[in-house]
Amino acid sequence: MTRVIYPGTFDPITYGHINILEKASKIFDDVILAVADHTDKQTGFSLEERYELCKEATQHLPNIHVSTFNGLFIDYAKAMDCKIMIRGLRAVSDFEYELALALTNKKLSPEIETIFLVPSLKYMYLSSSMIRQLAALGGQLDDFVPPNVAAAMKLKYGKQPLV
Ligand code: ADP
Repeated sequence: MTRVIYPGTFDPITYGHINILEKASKIFDDVILAVADHTDKQTGFSLEERYELCKEATQHLPNIHVSTFNGLFIDYAKAMDCKIMIRGLRAVSDFEYELALALTNKKLSPEIETIFLVPSLKYMYLSSSMIRQLAALGGQLDDFVPPNVAAAMKLKYGKQPLV
């Protein structure tokens, strides 16, 4: 059985993340969506909120399990008995950061492999930060995030979408 972990901030989870998860769930037996409790990132949603939104948004995928983790990914992976990290690769802008992350993890723990999945073209420029900006300005979110996330963002940002 091949278990993989897809770690991230998921602030919030978008259709881009879900696209990657749908691909991973077809390739691997067990996919853990691991929500990171980053301390260096100011998140819009708390860890608990991000976890709940991810859980609701991935209910249609039976082999996805949502979890949270603190600290180093390699320690979490070891604890979960997993050696494969999944990351999404969008445009060129992701490449430097993702490569540095993959190589740093490899240096810390040589048995860890990173597998990059490329999203469908329509999600290539979708990011959580763009969604947060859009929500803050009262923009329509429905094409970018699942309904539970759109509802949570409207509540959090307190603006009505433009029609
Ligand atoms: P992090 O803060 O760890 O980068 P994110 O939640 O922003 O967490 O992203 C988690 C992973 O999902 C990263 O590998 C990121 O490149 C990828 N990702 C984010 N949005 C998309 C998208 N629209 N399509 C494909 N991959 C994506």
